[in-house]
Amino acid sequence: MKRQTFLIDADDTLWENNVFFEQAIGEFIARMEPLGYSAAYVRRILNEIERRNIRQHGYGVGSFRRSLEETYRRLAGELANSDEWAWIRNRAHEIEHTPPRILEGVPETLAFLARRHRLILFTKGEPVEQGAKIERSGLVSYFEAVEIAPEKDADNYERVVNRHKVVKQNAWMVGNSPKSDVNPALEAGLNVVFIPHRMTWELEHAELVSGLGRMLLLTSFRDLRLHF
Ligand SMILES: [Mg+2]
Repeated sequence: MKRQTFLIDADDTLWENNVFFEQAIGEFIARMEPLGYSAAYVRRILNEIERRNIRQHGYGVGSFRRSLEETYRRLAGELANSDEWAWIRNRAHEIEHTPPRILEGVPETLAFLARRHRLILFTKGEPVEQGAKIERSGLVSYFEAVEIAPEKDADNYERVVNRHKVVKQNAWMVGNSPKSDVNPALEAGLNVVFIPHRMTWELEHAELVSGLGRMLLLTSFRDLRLHF
């Protein structure tokens, strides 16, 4: 097989990410119950506010904390109290300082792929926060380059492709998100390896589109070794 280029997503592809946010959201929803709101309602308001904050402030824990605070302000109104503000602050701090939990089979699969192919880490989010996670993951040595974009849209795919002189026919985006990994990569003319994660964030869900490239659907990261 010809040498391929792999653009590889990080959150929920190399390590667990969304599960930590989901745990905090579950606890937050339970704390809103005494105010008389259903779980579905709280989640809907939070999703709305998150969508808006992501557009204005990008991804990351800072944006998440802001969204919890705004949701709480909206739901509690006059009843808002300092214990809840402190809880939100602490919970966001905890997420930010949670050590990366690398997904099963990832280091040995990266080692295997790096011997044969070119690997570029391509993630979205807040640069300092994502940079720190990548650093602490201990996986950086497998990658020729690391790219952190505010959003993984077709334009940013083109930018990465041009910067690294990627030949699209011989390149694959590997990731868990239909919205950020699969669709824009296909749109940009790349091939895709889609590895769904059971905890993919609701805001990353999307109908899959078709593109010029091929799409390979795998159930785990280590299955990459069976194909490349
Ligand atoms: Mg991801």
